[in-house]
Amino acid sequence: MNTSTMPSDRHAARTVRVSRVHGDGDTVVRALDDVTIGFERGRFTAVMGPSGSGKSTLLHCLAGLDDVSAGEVYLGDTELGSLTDRQLTRLRRDRIGFVFQAFNLLPTMTALENILLPASLAGRKPDLDWLDRIVTSVGLDTRLHHRPGELSGGQQQRVAVARALVGRPEIVMADEPTGNLDSRSGSEVLALLRNAVNELGQTVLMVTHDPVAAGFADSVVFLADGRIADVMDSPTSDRVLDRMKAFDRVAAGVGARGV
Ligand code: ADP
Ligand code: MG
Repeated sequence: MNTSTMPSDRHAARTVRVSRVHGDGDTVVRALDDVTIGFERGRFTAVMGPSGSGKSTLLHCLAGLDDVSAGEVYLGDTELGSLTDRQLTRLRRDRIGFVFQAFNLLPTMTALENILLPASLAGRKPDLDWLDRIVTSVGLDTRLHHRPGELSGGQQQRVAVARALVGRPEIVMADEPTGNLDSRSGSEVLALLRNAVNELGQTVLMVTHDPVAAGFADSVVFLADGRIADVMDSPTSDRVLDRMKAFDRVAAGVGARGV
């Protein structure tokens, strides 16, 4: 999956030699360093790495929320650097579904109103059959007229997943979607994302530092110091955990001695 020579129609989103540098002189931080990676359509990919490895920066660059310092980002065939801010805003609204760690629901709106908000901002009529299918699949049938404050964290995140899916985006981007949830609610949300890929053909890209979450994905991309350090297909949480431990040993400078 990690090559720029692959035809772009396999990829919902991709980067070509992307770097993102913060600051200058002595204080320069290379949050992303020459990253070329493609995210295949209809697959669930997790991006893992220690804190500060560049996971959020990668997601933000892919969504046009952060500018790259070098290289190109594509959503489908669209190169984001060629777009105006206004076009980027529209692209995010129309082509990407977001799920955030902090749910980001509007507290005064019901679950249903939150789910429909992006479509209504875009002036689109919701496809009611599709809406029904999404609401059923996320298990919210009986909670649609509740406000976020009347829902558990897990239910709120399921509303956020429904909101992300209802517009049939080209890709769903989730940044630590289980970070604020207990393990059981987290597993439910991960199963929903998994189901969106299996049953709805959705493409999902999820940033996480949790090996259990990564175990739900089809493949895992490991970042370290802003670079792609490894890619693992058909991950299990145990294999992901082992891989992360190996990074820690290298970071501690003991990897070469096999400790
Ligand atoms: P992760 O999500 O993997 O924890 P981030 O992508 O948030 O990592 O950050 C990657 C690196 O870039 C870190 O060293 C972070 O401190 C740095 N960084 C991120 N955003 C900024 C910024 N706005 N200004 C300066 N440094 C930043
Ligand atoms: Mg982050």
